[in-house]
Amino acid sequence: MKNAKTALVTGSTSGIGLAIAEKLASQGTNLVINGLLEQAQGHALAQSLSEKYQVEVLFDPANLAHPEQIESMFKRAAKTFSGIDILVNNAGIQHTAPIEQFDNAKYQAIIAVNLSSVFYAMKAALPHMQQQSWGRIINIASVHGLVASINKSAYVAAKHGVVGMTKVAALENANNGITANAICPGWVETPLIQQQIDDIASAQKLSFEQAKGQLISAKQPRVEMANPAHIGDLVLFLVSDAAQGMTGTSLPIDGAWTAQ
Ligand code: NAD
Repeated sequence: MKNAKTALVTGSTSGIGLAIAEKLASQGTNLVINGLLEQAQGHALAQSLSEKYQVEVLFDPANLAHPEQIESMFKRAAKTFSGIDILVNNAGIQHTAPIEQFDNAKYQAIIAVNLSSVFYAMKAALPHMQQQSWGRIINIASVHGLVASINKSAYVAAKHGVVGMTKVAALENANNGITANAICPGWVETPLIQQQIDDIASAQKLSFEQAKGQLISAKQPRVEMANPAHIGDLVLFLVSDAAQGMTGTSLPIDGAWTAQ
């Protein structure tokens, strides 16, 4: 499609990222999808999205824990597309344990993937956006960018960092035609939270559904998980002209979790 915009969505082979990628593609946006998939599976996913939405889709297997792989991903994308117009930093991982028992390697991995990759990706994306005086950056943070929970020291630190870094990107580019916003979901039904449900189920001998209900209701007044596609709908609004004055914000989709 001529004059179509190009979006790079990190961690878009699953869950929220895939739903965001599909929403963007449904509007005629070309895509770079990324995630920890085998090349063959990644290319097959890119091909199926391309056929479904009639847009160009590249799969890039960059491991976001490595800054040089992020840089290479942007260089590869620039060879096919003129540059990235819409950057969605979505990839994320989780591990839960009290601070004194938290594995150091797991702490470092969460900071690298959930926080540092956001910095390296924005650094790589901004020059093209500044040059064309248009760009959209959407960082998928979490309610844990706004409030804390026990056993999530690395995740909470990373997500608070993402919310802060989003504000800096917004301030630095306030008059460049570029907006930077964070989305802060509460519980969303994706593979990321399966382990937490399994842990409750086995510790308390509950069914999966009972454990899921307990996980949600412990924090979130609306006892239902958000649909990943609805996060995608908010992304569509943020990339629209109507949102050109909205920048530096952190938008919860959290069933009133942070209203308490
Ligand atoms: P998910 O596990 O379904 O998907 C994560 C994606 O990130 C996958 O595509 C995976 O391949 C990719 N990824 C992981 N490590 C990577 C790495 N090193 N390099 C490249 N890609 C990597 O998770 P999700 O629930 O869709 O989470 C997406 C984002 O939403 C995360 O940032 C997460 O913190 C955030 N979030 C999720 C929830 C929730 O309840 N699911 C709530 C709030 C925020």
